[in-house]
Parts: sequence; structure tokens; C-alpha cells
Amino acid sequence: MEKLYADIIINISHEALDRVFGYKVPFSLVSKICVGQKVTVPFGRSNKEQTGYVVGLSDTIDYDESKVKEILRIEEDGVSVESKMLSLAYWIRENYGSTMIQALKTVLPVQEKTGQKTKKYIELKIDPIHGPALLDEYFGKHYVAKARLLAELLDEKRISWELASKKLKIPKSTVDSMIKDDVIRVVTEYYFRNPNPVEDRISPPVPLNDAQQELIDEFKADLLREEHKTYLLHGITGSGKTEVYLAAIEEVIKRGQQAIVLIPEIALTYQTVKRFTRRFGDRVSILNSRLSKGEKYDQWLRAKEGDLDVIIGPRSALFVPFPNLGLIVIDEEHEGSYKSEQTPKYHARETAIQKAKMEGASVILGSATPSIESYKNALDGNYRLWELTKRAKKAVLPQVYIEDLREELKCGNRSMFSRRLHDLIEDRLQKGEQMMLFLNRRGYAGFVSCRSCGHVMECPHCDVSMTYHKDGSLKCHYCGYEQPIPKICPECGSPYIAAFGLGTQKVEAAIHKEFPNAKVLRMDMDTTKKKHSHEEILAAFSNGEADILVGTQMIVKGHDFANVTLVGIMAADLSLHANDYRAGERTFQLLTQAAGRAGRGAKGGEVVIQTYSPEHYSIVTAAKQDYRAFYQQEIGYRSILKYPPQWQMLVIFASGKQEEKVVQLMETMAFMLRKMDVAVVGPSEASFAKINDYYRRVIYVKDKDYQVLVQVKNKLEQWLDTNNIRKDILINFDFNPMNSY
Ligand code: ADP
Ligand code: ZN
Ligand code: ZN
Repeated sequence: MEKLYADIIINISHEALDRVFGYKVPFSLVSKICVGQKVTVPFGRSNKEQTGYVVGLSDTIDYDESKVKEILRIEEDGVSVESKMLSLAYWIRENYGSTMIQALKTVLPVQEKTGQKTKKYIELKIDPIHGPALLDEYFGKHYVAKARLLAELLDEKRISWELASKKLKIPKSTVDSMIKDDVIRVVTEYYFRNPNPVEDRISPPVPLNDAQQELIDEFKADLLREEHKTYLLHGITGSGKTEVYLAAIEEVIKRGQQAIVLIPEIALTYQTVKRFTRRFGDRVSILNSRLSKGEKYDQWLRAKEGDLDVIIGPRSALFVPFPNLGLIVIDEEHEGSYKSEQTPKYHARETAIQKAKMEGASVILGSATPSIESYKNALDGNYRLWELTKRAKKAVLPQVYIEDLREELKCGNRSMFSRRLHDLIEDRLQKGEQMMLFLNRRGYAGFVSCRSCGHVMECPHCDVSMTYHKDGSLKCHYCGYEQPIPKICPECGSPYIAAFGLGTQKVEAAIHKEFPNAKVLRMDMDTTKKKHSHEEILAAFSNGEADILVGTQMIVKGHDFANVTLVGIMAADLSLHANDYRAGERTFQLLTQAAGRAGRGAKGGEVVIQTYSPEHYSIVTAAKQDYRAFYQQEIGYRSILKYPPQWQMLVIFASGKQEEKVVQLMETMAFMLRKMDVAVVGPSEASFAKINDYYRRVIYVKDKDYQVLVQVKNKLEQWLDTNNIRKDILINFDFNPMNSY
């Protein structure tokens, strides 16, 4: 095939331009052009220069040859998309909804070649045997600079450009003249900015215990048969999951393949990375948001050129272009941050599995509290379930108490500390041991509850808690149901019914009041705004500069404090009554992680969970550390209410300046949807019905089959584009959302 015509995606993210445009390849570029290259073309009526990506080449074209414009040039400084990345971009676009250029930009997190660091060397080109004769000649002619350089090169064979110009003071004209005479040559080498602290000592692996070894044996056997599976490694904190990842990666490297390790950005600490560099040395690198553009480009290039075996990073590290990918590890696979918040709203887990399928690689998902989706996939046989049930090092699991805050109120205790938590804090202060008090505010959306009986105002149609609005109303964000806040509890008649208000600052103030001698550190959004404040607070606590660390979910991640023997969860209800269907799952995860913080050292520990709903299954099962029991309850709830993963969900979100237009569009779409034989909820107002004068509405569509929802999305997209609706109103699609709208 001659490459005479090219299909090009224009680098403008507008739905109306979301298709390929045909261009002629000029004769001068026919031998150079490839699929994936970045090119510049004349575009539109004014023939304005635009960049784009080549997504196809052919020797024929469907339309009038005379009207086809020519490609102007190939962009040398543009990073090209490899064909496997191109297929992945198509898959992302289809399955999550976006324009092709948005999908391309997702798989190309590095888009420009940036000022790469190079180093120039001067090398001897002639055979050194002829050196002495030439040196005599130079001396005879009084070519002193040439003689100096040649003498040095006869000793060293190769010297840096810097050395020649600065130390030896060789003028550029001398170098040029010697190049012309074929005596020397100049070579340019790239060197990479390595953001990673390279360990000088590679430590030998710890011998795996029997449970770990069994998993690795199975993994090896699967590799030998070229069976590439997705494994779900469910193991309690400290059970040795990371050692399993390391061993699996080693197997893959032995086969000459590479591995990608995804870690939530918040957990991407020096400590974690060090475990990998200790094992694999400088063939490991990291990608994270703190790297400069240049550093990112270098890691990308090192991966592409086979200079790396392992890359560690957040979501976007998935798109590092390894030549022969063998394994993708996703640690803490349940984390919400694996789903992109920008269009395309892809989930890194599903995308990793698709990428692995395309490239013949395996996937290991790891978690102490797997997502309901993954665990269901494992039970259904789509993933291989691996379990580690014991801590690798001898450590006792903490004693967990559930304290009923309704009882406290009944007994006249109006403090935010239950009597048990109060006594245990006193005890630790006396013994000089440390504590963590934890407020799980994530997803907290201002629910209304009764302090006497714990009753929470929930939507009668959706079984999620309703959200308090300043105008005194309560709203459901799935269906729009609305009612005024009751004056007395509909359950018990108590007047103590109000929006739940508790912040870390209030907790800190209460500690100062009840335990005046305690030294407190607080870690939340306010105290961690500065770049390293996060690490500083943790370091201070680790050095014993405070008795109590108060914080949000930030404090439960990954850090080991041997002296912490008490963990208090101030109000487990906060995350339980977030207004979305994942609230129960998130609460279980947070409580399990928080509890895991106690008794990491030799002393053992205690955990106090304070709550108004002590009988809720998320709390009961988290206290017993019983994931299986939690899963059974949760999956039942998801089935009954048609939530993922039992049903699949598509959110259609619209926002625009003219309220009527948005409302009317959504009504029209809902009408179309109702004829498509899928379950439709809405349209209703989003949590924030209006932001910056933009009106926001949502529709929820549900079906058992994900592909049916993809078809629904495609039909709507087509309809929106033919009617040119997206020029006034922003429309987003989101499959199986992580957050409520
Ligand atoms: P996880 O990733 O499940 O939290 P880690 O892999 O971090 O668990 O292991 C927890 C601790 O146990 C670490 O200090 C680790 O070095 C240690 N460990 C893990 N596996 C072994 C083993 N086979 N023998 C001895 N120590 C181990
Ligand atoms: Zn009540
Ligand atoms: Zn509702």
C-alpha cells in the first residue's frame, strides 16, 4: 500500500469536530509518515494551521480528490501515539464517552518533547596506532591546541565537551577543523533526569512465607502457559501483599518484560518507592504530579527505550509505553482516585484490564478491603481470587469497641467523647502512649439526624440520606425528592433533630477543654495546604511531639506509628450517611483502615468506634474485620436498589446558562430514554443546582448490561451532534459514578 492519504484527528476538543478528516500526504512525506504521528495541517475555510494526529493511512480516498488538502509537515517535537495506545484510546472513547482527541490526550499524558538533557563528548575517530605520528605532525606545525586535544584523546579515547572547552581551552574552530579532517567526532548522548533516590544497595528479597509462595507458584505456572489473568489479592493490612507484588514483578522481569505499578497518589511516599528501588535498583522509576514536564518526558522515554523495568505512579502511569508489558499491579484497588474526574471518566482498573488484554499482560489487584465490583468479579470467576488472611509479622489485631452515642445522650453525657473513649484517652496520657482521633468526613454531605435515637432522614425512593440545604429543605440527589426539615424526629418525637455538624477543629477544641495537658496535632485540609506540611505533621507525631493526632481520612493511609495504641473514630455515621450508594462501602473501608492503625507495634491496641447506628452492618462487620460478611450484606442492598455492580449506571449531566434550555433538553432526553427499554430516573437537580450561574441537571440510566448503556450513550451523542446542541449546553457522560452529582 502506498501511503497517499491520511486520516487525521484534529487537535481541538469539540464534539462537532470529533471525526477523522482526510488529507493528502505530500510526496516529500510519503516515506516518513506513520500512524500516530503529530502533524500540522491547514484546517477550516481559512486554512488556519492546526495540529492533529494521524490515525490511519491508505492509498485511496472516498471523496473528491481535488478538494483534499495536503498535510503541511510532521511535528518533530511531538510525541507520537503508538498503535496499541491508539486502540486503547478508541476503547476509552467508546466505553466512557468523550471525543477522540480527549481520549488520545488521556493515553498520551506526555505530549511534547521537552528540553531533554544532553551531553556532548569528543571521541577519537582515527585508529590510535596513527596517533603518535599525527601528534608529531601537529607539533611540527605548531598546532598547539590540536596537539593538546589529541594527546588527551590518546590517553582517554573520549572526553566531555566541557572538559575540552573549559579545562583544555580548545577553541571551537580547532574542534571543527579536526572533525573535517576525520580525526575526531562529536557524539551527543541523552542523559535522563532521574527523580528517584537510587539506593546504593540492592537488598535480597525476604523469603516468602507459605501463603505467599503458593500464590507466586500459581502465577509462575500461569505465565509458563501464557495464561494472562486478573488476580484479586485480598489480604489484610500487613499480610505481605507488597512482597507478593515484588515477587511477581521479578518473574515478569526474568522474562524480559516490564511492569506498571499503580498506587494512589496520596500513598506514593518515599517509603513505598524505596521498597521497589531496594529490590530493582535504578531500573525503577516514578511518575507523579510533582515531577516537572522534562522529568516526566524523560521517564516516558526511558520506558519506551527499554531503560526501565518498573514504573510506579498514580492513574496516569498506566499509559507509560513499555515495549513488552508483562504485568500491571494496582495497589489499594478500591480507591476512588483510580477513576478520572475529567472526561473521559475512565476507571484505571477496567482500563488496565483492557490494556493487559490487548498486550498479553497479567493484572494483580490488591486490597485489604476490595471494591464490591472486584470482589463480585472474583466470586463470579472473572478474576482469580487470592487470599492472605494472616499478618506476615507477628502482630496482634486490635480490640474494637462500638460505642452507642444515643446511650451517651440518655445518660446525660453531652460531650463528643463517649465514656469509654474518655477513659481510654486518660489512660494513654498517663502511660505516655500515643493516640489518633479520626473524623471520616469524606463524602460527608450534611445529612440530618436525631441525636436521641439516631434516625437519619432518608429518601423514601432511593434509600440514601437526603442532603440539608440552607433554605431549610432536604433533598435527594438521585431523584430530586424534596421535603422540609422536620421540627421533631418522626421516629421518636425528640426535638434534637438537626444537621450533623462536626469538624476537626471542634474535636481539637474539645480535647483542649477536657484534657488540658494533652499535646495535639491536627491534620486536615486547612493544616496541610503548604507543600510539605503533610510530611512535617506526620514526622512531628512520629517523633513523639504530640500525644494525640486529630485528622480526616488523610491520617489513616499507610503510616506506621509503633507507639499508637488507641484509635478513636469520632462519628462513624459521617461517611455512612453520605448521599450516595457507595456510602456503606466507603465507611467499611475507612473504619477497617483506621482500625488497622492501632497496635502496629509490640504493644497491641484498642479501637473505639463511636456511632449513632451501632447496628449498621458496615460498622458491625468492620469492627469484626469480616469482609465477607460485609460483602454479603452490601451486594444484597445493591441488588434490591439496582445499583452497581448488580446493575450498571450511566449518569447524564447537563449544565448551561439558560435554565429553561437545560431543563427542556433533559426532559427531551428522558423522554427518548424511556422509549429505549432502560430504567430512567430523573431529570433532577444536581447537588449544586447552580454554580456560577450555570444550571445543572442529571439523569440516571440503569440497565443490567453495560454495553446497552454504551449504545444508549452512542445514540444520544449522535442525536446531540446532529442537532448541534452541545454548543450551548455542556453534556457529560459518567458510567458507574464514584461520587454523587
Ligand atoms: P501489605 O502490603 O499487605 O500491607 P507488606 O508487604 O507491607 O504487607 O508486609 C507487612 C510487613 O511484613 C512488612 O514489614 C514486610 O517487610 C513484612 N513481611 C512481608 N512478608 C514477609 C515474609 N514473608 N517474611 C517476613 N516478613 C515479611
Ligand atoms: Zn429520634
Ligand atoms: Zn430519591
